[in-house]
Amino acid sequence: MAKDYYEILGVSRNASDTEIKKAFRQLALKYHPDRNPGNKEAEEKFREINEAYSVLSDPQKRAQYDQYGRVLDNNQGFGGDDFGFSIFEEFFGDTFGSFFGGSTRSRNKPRKGSNIEMEVEIEFEESAKGTKKQIVVPKTVVCKRCGGTGAEPGAIITCPRCNGTGQFVQRQGFFTMATPCPDCRGTGKFVKEHCNECKGEGSVRERKSLEIKIPAGIEDEMILRITGEGNSGINGGPNGDLFVKIKVKKHKFFVRKGRDLHLDLPISFVDAILGKEINIPTLDGSETIKIKPGSQPDDTIVLKGKGFQDVNGYGLGNMVITLKVVLPTHINKKQKELLEEFAKNSDEDTYKKHKSILDRIKEFFS
Ligand SMILES: [Zn+2]
Ligand SMILES: [Zn+2]
Repeated sequence: MAKDYYEILGVSRNASDTEIKKAFRQLALKYHPDRNPGNKEAEEKFREINEAYSVLSDPQKRAQYDQYGRVLDNNQGFGGDDFGFSIFEEFFGDTFGSFFGGSTRSRNKPRKGSNIEMEVEIEFEESAKGTKKQIVVPKTVVCKRCGGTGAEPGAIITCPRCNGTGQFVQRQGFFTMATPCPDCRGTGKFVKEHCNECKGEGSVRERKSLEIKIPAGIEDEMILRITGEGNSGINGGPNGDLFVKIKVKKHKFFVRKGRDLHLDLPISFVDAILGKEINIPTLDGSETIKIKPGSQPDDTIVLKGKGFQDVNGYGLGNMVITLKVVLPTHINKKQKELLEEFAKNSDEDTYKKHKSILDRIKEFFS
């Protein structure tokens, strides 16, 4: 069936471009699906309007249409499903929103709920082994009674003020101003009675208890994202996310550097000189290490693979033990005698490691 594009737009055969544009604008606003939710007739009409406009607004297509009654064009032809929002949006662009004082489409669009941020403190050892923590998250959840509509069951009616169109039309001189209906805020729906449970909010506050898994190797200040555990979505949108910042308590003697575990180990100067086996604490409990005879201050002993697990599972760090040689501050008479005896029996070879420096100092004084 041949469609009369002029009839669809309600303009005469010799209408000017401006008249066609104006007619399209008015009709498109009237039949836009956002203003007529679920109305199949309006949807069809909207498609027709778009089709008519796309032909009549193009001088070449319009001339063809005038001559042949229909237009032969690109592969798609006309009357396909190409017509719809694209032309409408091209036509109105950004003015759509301001024209309505805020687009109803974005007003009622499902939106993601807001995110929630929390902090959880864990022990140093827990950061190494991984742990589970029970946390309580204060958040909004969709109201079970109304399913988020904010209305008592069965209390949603078509807005009587705007008859469900969502718009409020006013004449001001030459202009017809369409603003969102104040009663329904442009939704076209009116809540006769607010939900008893949520007082019309559509969501209720809740303290949700949640078990979170903290992976082994997690570092201080790292943030875990738990998808969908934030505040509830709006208009049926998805929930926000929960972000948990992990605070790792400082340890009494362990320090973490990257994946490595550091320990400053105080040993007596005698143990450093003579060597010794010492039991030291590790992440797994304890381990016996060997201090080599002749160890020097700040010498390190590395235990491979005894550090932290990478939080993403990429290998293990080491444990680095730094020897902190401790010298006595007070000695008794006997000790003094023994040290003096020791000194008498010492020569340059006793301090081999520093021999070259000692030589240079000697040269300086000679
Ligand atoms: Zn409710
Ligand atoms: Zn209304």
